Amino acid sequence: MKVLKFGGTSVGSEEAIRQVAKIVQSQVDQVVLVTSAVGGVTDQLVKIGEVAASGDKVYISHFEVVKVQHEQLYYNLIENKPDDKFYKIIEEFEDICKGVFLLRELTTRSSDYILSIGERLSSLIISEFFRTEGIDITLFDSRQYIKTDDHFGHANVNFKLTTQKIKEAEASFTRVSLFPGFISSTEDNQTTTLGRGGSDYTAAILAGVLVADHFEVWTDVDGLMTADPRMVKRANFIEHVSYEEALELSHFGAKVIYPPSIQPALEKGIPMTIKNTFKPDQKGTLITKEWDDNKQLIRGISSIKDIALVTLSGSGMVGIPKFSYRFFRALSTAKVNVILITQASSEHSITVGIDAKDANPALKALKEEFTEQIASNHIDPILVEKNLSIIALVGNNMRDQVGVSGQMFNVLGKNGVSIKAIAQGSSERNISAVISKDDLSKALNVLHESFFLYATKRINLFIIGTGNVGKAFINQLVQQFTYLKKNHQLNIKIIGMANSKKMIFEKDGTPLSKWESTLANGAKFDKKDFLRHMYEMNLRNSIFIDITASDEIAALYPEILKKSISVVTPNKIAATGPQVDYLNLKSMSKKFGSRFLFETNVCAGLPVLSTLNDLVRSGDQVHQIEAVLSGTLVFLFNEYNGTTKFVDVIKKAKELGFTEPDPRLDLFGSDVKRKILILIRESGYTCEYDDIELNSFLPQSCMESTTIEDFYEKVEAEEAHFKKLYDDAQAKGSRLKVVAKYKNGHGSVGLEAVDATHPFYNLEGKDNIVLFYTNRYNDHPMVIKGAGAGAEVTASGIFADVLRLSQSDI
Ligand code: ADP
Ligand code: ASP
Ligand code: MG
Repeated sequence: MKVLKFGGTSVGSEEAIRQVAKIVQSQVDQVVLVTSAVGGVTDQLVKIGEVAASGDKVYISHFEVVKVQHEQLYYNLIENKPDDKFYKIIEEFEDICKGVFLLRELTTRSSDYILSIGERLSSLIISEFFRTEGIDITLFDSRQYIKTDDHFGHANVNFKLTTQKIKEAEASFTRVSLFPGFISSTEDNQTTTLGRGGSDYTAAILAGVLVADHFEVWTDVDGLMTADPRMVKRANFIEHVSYEEALELSHFGAKVIYPPSIQPALEKGIPMTIKNTFKPDQKGTLITKEWDDNKQLIRGISSIKDIALVTLSGSGMVGIPKFSYRFFRALSTAKVNVILITQASSEHSITVGIDAKDANPALKALKEEFTEQIASNHIDPILVEKNLSIIALVGNNMRDQVGVSGQMFNVLGKNGVSIKAIAQGSSERNISAVISKDDLSKALNVLHESFFLYATKRINLFIIGTGNVGKAFINQLVQQFTYLKKNHQLNIKIIGMANSKKMIFEKDGTPLSKWESTLANGAKFDKKDFLRHMYEMNLRNSIFIDITASDEIAALYPEILKKSISVVTPNKIAATGPQVDYLNLKSMSKKFGSRFLFETNVCAGLPVLSTLNDLVRSGDQVHQIEAVLSGTLVFLFNEYNGTTKFVDVIKKAKELGFTEPDPRLDLFGSDVKRKILILIRESGYTCEYDDIELNSFLPQSCMESTTIEDFYEKVEAEEAHFKKLYDDAQAKGSRLKVVAKYKNGHGSVGLEAVDATHPFYNLEGKDNIVLFYTNRYNDHPMVIKGAGAGAEVTASGIFADVLRLSQSDI
């Protein structure tokens, strides 16, 4: 014998019920069938009861909707008008609603009666339809067999009596015996219900008592997943799981099975399968008593969306006798179900997580229980916090594994999810944490990505600046997208994008092929709005990328890092401001788990800063730095040989796009000063911009130029000065390079003539070079050399920072 249970969506429409008939017909075994109310009807019934009790006549039209919906279903399936049995239920339904309306009162008892209508109607329609299909079926009114106490709304089963009644019924079973789920009654036949989602329970009780060969729960998903597929798109299907794990998952919200439901089947060791009504050929999830595949540390991640935390605290608590007993007794009398408990080891406080809708009854009950102690200040006023959710990691193998909770809290912390309470179930099969409801989706997804290795990790980018470098970066992302997804399980999306005029946001990622036109039609850019949007979206693994040279945007970093969002930028302003600000950014990122990466500040895409960071982190010490940090200046002095005028070489460089729009920015040396300043700071030394000595190779007149044109004129007038610099170097067999240095605790930038033995002598084109002299690289410095400027290489450096973040726990 098999017990098959079909949930609300499985009997939610004419087509679905026909599908159920097919599944039942295909069974070889004798079938005990359990069905829910038509999908959504129980919710409608809850509402009708509430509206009627409020004295609002509108309840009548809600009633009509439910009535007509079932009439239609009956007619479509059975091709006949509903019969007397049908209208008898409808009549009872109408009467009880009228009673509630007149009395303006909805007791838990009358509520249960109203709720029972859903299962009673659906089971009647299904049994009559099956009969017309030629299926040998008998309809049993579950209320006569599932016997409970009078805890209306969530009745407790009297197993002794129930077993006896079911066993008696067994004699009259036919090929298919149908029991409506969810409904039951007291010994004196008052209708009760088993709690929302309780049809699973009805089925499990039947399976347990009848010692079925198999218990199947048919629903609208392929089986148990590693997380609720509605919250985590990439949730994975679980093929096989132990009863304990399934129970644990459902306790923390995996709604696919109702928490107590499997207990009766578990006790008898009946194998259970969860299957999809609409894809009956799929295997489904098998749940058995023992199952441990030894591999999977975490089986799934569950959540309960709406919970409240209730805390009782006070220094006088320790001395109050039976304190915990009274606390839990008060909650239990108020019928408040405790989902999670945490107690501080000091015993000065106790916190429980409960369903949000129980918050008021819980508060009332506790206030009454502890009135005296609160009045005498032995206990603080009871604290209730709302808008919270619970997330729970569930897995058998977690027990003997250290570090799971560490990983959980690390990942959450780095994503700015703060944890209000933590509990580890005594079974050690779960670790649960209470977090803000706003963070639920982010937390679930980020944990899923972290604990299920095969899961693709989603990275969410917010980019400001779409000039040459910005464009190049986005193009590289377009080119690499498929590769990264396939080979590195990274799904990098641009969620927000802006330039100085416009901004756009797209929750699922801006379509990369047409980002330019989409941005052109975006909203007006406003930096505050941009940040507000970014924060409100509250996405996991968010990275803010500043590809501007704006000081206004750089000023936003501290606030962004504080929100646990990492910052990547080629913009040098933030890292070269006052040392205190630079240190503040560093400490901010440490404190809030975000990172501040600016590899491209020095030598564009060359891995200068990451190498330096690795050296320092691994305990090496930098003594001296020598570097050529401006590709523009290398080009100028490589090209200039005294025949063409220096000014014409500058103009040529500008035409080729090798200089800033205003070439003075390159020639005055301030940019090189900023770069060496960053190298000094990242080496661990304190240094301000003004501490760096600048020995300009430009005569004073050029430094005082007013416009670019004026500058060109002055450079031309000083041609003799530049020629002399060149000739002098040439005479010594040397070449001119603008060298940045850190030596004996002092930073400097100046023109030097280097001889043929020097590593800078052969620097080609626009290349950069950096030499680090350290404890480990003492006689022979660590050398990093290569293209140090240009949109493409800068973009690839930004890309490298993004990947660095993506591959760590952001
Ligand atoms: P039924 O009406 O068949 O009883 P429910 O709506 O009660 O169906 O339960 C099925 C739903 O449970 C699915 O549609 C899914 O959204 C939700 N669910 C939550 N957590 C999980 C999980 N871990 N695995 C599968 N489904 C889940
Ligand atoms: N119809 C009931 C509910 O919606 C029971 C069930 O579907 O399991 O809660
Ligand atoms: Mg259900």
